[in-house]
Amino acid sequence: MSFEALREAIKEGNEYNFYGEDKPKCPHCGETWDGEWCESPLYNEGDQEIECQHCEKEYSVDVVITFHYNTDNQELEEQNK
Ligand SMILES: [Zn+2]
Repeated sequence: MSFEALREAIKEGNEYNFYGEDKPKCPHCGETWDGEWCESPLYNEGDQEIECQHCEKEYSVDVVITFHYNTDNQELEEQNK
């Protein structure tokens, strides 16, 4: 049976364990994806197919990219010297 881990989580009301993760979680075995980012399609937004390193089954993951902006101290630091 496939998607065992995800089915189990949904049954227990724990499906949020598979949302908003730093790394994708395999719906088959429940293990966290741990591959090379640069060799994966995970840099692209939207549905991507990846393979789990633990059970070697494929699954699709919805990649959500968020942007963060940091305005650093820049010239303020200079002025305070
Ligand atoms: Zn797996």
